[in-house]
Amino acid sequence: MTSGKIIIVGLGPGPDRWLTPEASHALEEATDIIGYIPYVERLPDRQGQVKHATDNRVEIDRARHALDLAQQGHVVAIVSGGDPGVFAMAAAVFEAIDTGTDADRATKVQVLPGISAMQAAAARLGAPLGHDFCAISLSDNLKPWDVIIRRLTAAAEGDFVIALYNPASKTRPQPIHDAFALLRSLKSPATPVAFARAVGRPDERIVLTTLGEADPSTADMSTLVIIGSSETRFIEREGQEPWLYTPRHYGLKR
Ligand code: SAH
Repeated sequence: MTSGKIIIVGLGPGPDRWLTPEASHALEEATDIIGYIPYVERLPDRQGQVKHATDNRVEIDRARHALDLAQQGHVVAIVSGGDPGVFAMAAAVFEAIDTGTDADRATKVQVLPGISAMQAAAARLGAPLGHDFCAISLSDNLKPWDVIIRRLTAAAEGDFVIALYNPASKTRPQPIHDAFALLRSLKSPATPVAFARAVGRPDERIVLTTLGEADPSTADMSTLVIIGSSETRFIEREGQEPWLYTPRHYGLKR
């Protein structure tokens, strides 16, 4: 066994203030940084450190590369946006280990938690995730669309608040429209909806609306969409954006 290891790091949703001290330390300590191009480019160049930026669709190759480097003694930080365990690189690394060799199983791996987009968005909006919620990725690159339909239906029937990741991209404009059509058939049109785009970044944009009135094309690949439960509500404020929250008590009087 070498001194090499893989540290799976979440960079948070954008600004450096949402990067944990533990994650920053790992990024300084690493001999190699591996990740999707925009995340790797965001990090400063450091002497003695090699940055390997790769395209988004090659997560397993990236994980394989990290395992090979770690086995040669490198300290490899593999970076994701947000939390590395939420629709991100940690699961890809474990998938590579699961289908890999004994050497892969013996490789030292650490996963460092990060702030996920849903937490940043929720904090910006008020407290929409204050009661039971679920997170669903609308990307059908890695799962069949009928599974997404089944999960959205179950989430609506279970009256969960729903956080939608990967709601749309240039090549996938349709899923968010289909998801809204389905949710409109299952939930009240008065259900609060938030489109939280680029939270914490200079181009942040928040749109508060209802399921009945929402324009699904508001969502792009930098947007986290929150759809309320039957309990989620706005607190209107004079001259300011309303708060959005889900009470701690189910059935709290309005
Ligand atoms: N691991 C990441 C999620 C990766 S999936 C995390 O924990 O946040 C990528 C999706 O995350 C995007 O399509 C978008 O839905 C969401 N996302 C990431 N950063 C965001 C931000 N700053 N504001 C809003 N949504 C964001």
